[in-house]
Amino acid sequence: LFISFEGVDGCGKTTQAIRLAERLRQQGWAVVQTREPGGTPLGERVRQLLLGVQDAPPTARAEVLLFAADRAQHVDTVIRPALAAGAMVLCDRFADSTRAYQGYGRQLDLGLIEDGIRLATQGLEPHITFLLDLPIEAMASRLAHRGAASNRFELEGGDFYARVRQGFMALARMHTARICVLDALQSPDVIHAAAWQRLLPQLSP
Ligand code: C5P
Ligand code: MG
Repeated sequence: LFISFEGVDGCGKTTQAIRLAERLRQQGWAVVQTREPGGTPLGERVRQLLLGVQDAPPTARAEVLLFAADRAQHVDTVIRPALAAGAMVLCDRFADSTRAYQGYGRQLDLGLIEDGIRLATQGLEPHITFLLDLPIEAMASRLAHRGAASNRFELEGGDFYARVRQGFMALARMHTARICVLDALQSPDVIHAAAWQRLLPQLSP
C-alpha cells in the first residue's frame, strides 16, 4: 500500500507517519517511510533549493517544476521500487501538497498543476491519504514555537495558508474514497487510533 500524509505546516504529519510506521513494523510489515520534498539524495538538494534560498526564492512556476523534479526522482527510485518489493510506503506529503500549495495557495492554473503531477508520477496515486486538518490560527501558534528558521507562516502570510487549507479540504471532498480527514487538534493518540481504524480493513489480504 502507498499511504500519504497531508496538511498544512505543523499539522502533525511527521508525528503520525512515525507512529503508523512503528505500528506496522511491530505487526511484521516492511515499511518504507519517506518524505517530499526530500526522500532521495537529489530530492534533499532540491529541498535546499526550495526552502534554503531566502534571498533568491524560485518564482511560482519554477517552484512547481522543482517539486516535480523532486517527485519524479522519488517515484522512480524509491516509491515504485518499494511498492514492487511489497513494502508499505508511508510518505510525508505527496501530490496533494502541490495541488494545495501551488494550485490553491499560489493560484496557478489547476490543469497545468495536474500536468506537472502526471509528468512526475506517471499516474501513481496513494491508496490512502490522511489529511490532518488544522485551523490557521493553531498553525500560526505551533510554528511560532518551532522558531523562525522553519516558520514559513511569517514568510507567506495567513491568507496564503487559508487558501492552502481550503484547497486541501476541496480535494478531500473530491476524493472521498482516498482522502481520510483527521482533526489535527486532537491528541496524537486519538489521531493515530482513527488512522489505524481507517487502515485496518486494507491490511487483511
Ligand atoms: O512538510 P515539511 O514541513 O517538510 O515541508 C517543508 C516546507 O515546504 C513547508 O514549509 C511547506 O510549506 C513547503 N511546501 C510547499 N509546497 C509544497 C510542499 C511543501 O510550499 N508543495
Ligand atoms: Mg513535518
